[in-house]
Amino acid sequence: MQFDRKNLPNELVDQVNRMPKIELHVHLEGATKAETFYSLAQKNEVDFGVNSLEEWKSFFAFKDFNHFLRVYTLAITALKKPEDYTFIITEFYRQQAEQNIVYSEAYISASFIIQKFETEEILNAIEAGIRIGEGKYKVKINFIPDISRELVDTQMRVVDFVIEGFDRGLFIGLGIGGPESGFPPELFVEAFEKAKAHGLRLVAHAGETAGAVSIWGAINSLYAERIGHGIRSLEDPQLIRFLVEHQIPLEVSPSSNYALGIVQNGDSHPIRKLLEAGILCTLNSDDPAMFSTSLNQEYFLLLEQGFDCDELFQLNMNALKVSFACEKTKQEVQTKLMAYQENKIHFKVLT
Ligand SMILES: [Zn+2]
Repeated sequence: MQFDRKNLPNELVDQVNRMPKIELHVHLEGATKAETFYSLAQKNEVDFGVNSLEEWKSFFAFKDFNHFLRVYTLAITALKKPEDYTFIITEFYRQQAEQNIVYSEAYISASFIIQKFETEEILNAIEAGIRIGEGKYKVKINFIPDISRELVDTQMRVVDFVIEGFDRGLFIGLGIGGPESGFPPELFVEAFEKAKAHGLRLVAHAGETAGAVSIWGAINSLYAERIGHGIRSLEDPQLIRFLVEHQIPLEVSPSSNYALGIVQNGDSHPIRKLLEAGILCTLNSDDPAMFSTSLNQEYFLLLEQGFDCDELFQLNMNALKVSFACEKTKQEVQTKLMAYQENKIHFKVLT
């Protein structure tokens, strides 16, 4: 059955809202709202070249990929002081908690951070954000700093920064994002080998704007344990077989794919095909503030494309299974998921 999102039955909306969720692909900066960047810019006297919040919000709204990169690059200039990171991290915890996302893994754009801050001061600020956020909102978030591909020369400084944060218990792994074209995985082997030797978990954006060859590179050269996006794996049957056989999961973000034109508006999202092929998929919001979405909206989008609540629940179970959470956290999250599922079944029997 197909639904128009605006006309989703309240019961389904309520079930998605109440479902304890796990998100594995969301960018801290891309989850930060236009208003937050604007207020930080005012505080830090950063000129966005606009005269009002309304003007900023209209610039901030997604238009196309190049515009998105301009917005991203300009917005993060507002993050001038270490304590700004404490603030946006705390805000991020609030937003995840409000959506009942009980466990997240979130990227931080480390290539920009290491150019602006001393390691010690920024790690202290990030630690403060995590402490305040966890204490106040009672959800768990593990952070994964990532290398921006276009800033190739930052890779070794990023990995050293990540290792310091990892040793302090602040980070869990290393990622890589940014434009795939012109910056293949093979350029980043040294950084990923160093991170692997130090015990960091490894993930890579691949197979989004570039094809299957980029995913092969992420697996073979960067030892990626999960692939960010990866939907273009469908272009290579041999790769699909490999991903299934080795249970390498994909972090799928439908609204992001539609916005960037990876999937055409009006077409069904290929997540259905990927699941049918036996790929472990998870559902994510990527840069929710910049794509005007949220994790709940991603679930609504799949409901609209014919998924049912049990299938959405299974996507959460997949995410829990392939997350980098410690066993204790996995157990706690599993308990919440099971409690939700039992109540839902009970609810169904009663009505
Ligand atoms: Zn991403």
